[in-house]
Amino acid sequence: MHFTGTVYRNPYGPTFPLLEITQSTTHNKCRFCTMYRDVPFKMSPMEWIEEDLQETASIVPNATTIQLLRKTKGIP
Ligand code: SF4
Repeated sequence: MHFTGTVYRNPYGPTFPLLEITQSTTHNKCRFCTMYRDVPFKMSPMEWIEEDLQETASIVPNATTIQLLRKTKGIP
């Protein structure tokens, strides 16, 4: 699986398999937030996403839901 830096998962949410589709945040200017301060924003390469989907399918073949790890302005 391709994960960049620390993965932040909702501790109160269901434990769906994770799929990283971007790294960091497009905003990265909120003064209170240091989550991605040192990580530049990038889209995950499609090859990584396809590999991770195949790996997830082999590990959790009955999964019906995945959680996308993506960071966009205003959606932490
Ligand atoms: S938009 Fe969200 S992730 Fe990005 S800097 Fe602000 S609080 Fe952090």
